[in-house]
Amino acid sequence: VIEVSGLNKWYGPYHALRDIDLTVAQGERIVIAGPSGSGKSTLIRCLNGLETHQKGRIVVHGSELSRAPGGTPGIGAEIGMVFQQFNLFPHMTILENCMLAPMRVRGLPRAEAEARARQFLDKVRIGAQAGKYPAMLSGGQQQRAAIARALCMRPRVMLFDEPTSALDPEVIREVLDVMVALAAEGMTMICVTHEMGFAREVADRMIFMDEGQIVEEAPPAAFFDAPRHPRTQHFLSRIL
Ligand code: ATP
Ligand code: MG
Repeated sequence: VIEVSGLNKWYGPYHALRDIDLTVAQGERIVIAGPSGSGKSTLIRCLNGLETHQKGRIVVHGSELSRAPGGTPGIGAEIGMVFQQFNLFPHMTILENCMLAPMRVRGLPRAEAEARARQFLDKVRIGAQAGKYPAMLSGGQQQRAAIARALCMRPRVMLFDEPTSALDPEVIREVLDVMVALAAEGMTMICVTHEMGFAREVADRMIFMDEGQIVEEAPPAAFFDAPRHPRTQHFLSRIL
């Protein structure tokens, strides 16, 4: 589904991604971990065209992402993205948030967009909140709404960038449960998260990044129980 080869990204003089190679198969679940500033967000933002890269190739479902400023139009529609800060539109209800992109980008008629939005809001178990504005919901509910909004575009891949880091501890589980359910349905997922219990449960493959590079890649059992690289060992010793 996604093929990244020789990816390099600079912010001005700062070399944020160094020679990243990564292949993600249909239905695969990948969890990316690594210290702050290691380039995790930059990598997944490059994958959905929110950032442009300067060197290397990113191919998503057979089409190569452009390196030109402005990126590749339409690529965002194939890839759902969930952020740490939910990024819901505050002046729209949850339902309207979910209907907007399918209508604007996919050209879905209003009635169909609404039916689809209600279906996905029910699925993340906040159907009853559909008419409320984001500020009226808990953080966990807002994040589930943000996941529903992404799913309404019927993306081929879902990217998560620390989706539970801004949440109170008591609502983290409800968001992780939604992500586990998505994984069980076979959604292709790339998740940046510090939730190592979730990673063990769901990941097919762990990726550890440091200083803009992929330092180690392994199935979760090997990654957590027998990390090979000293930097991975150091990182895990601090967070586990
Ligand atoms: P965190 O765990 O804190 O979210 P991260 O692994 O997601 O960290 P990135 O946000 O990808 O790290 O940032 C990687 C590096 O690139 C950091 O040193 C950061 O300061 C730098 N960087 C990120 N975005 C920009 C930007 N828009 N302009 C300049 N530098 C940036
Ligand atoms: Mg980040």
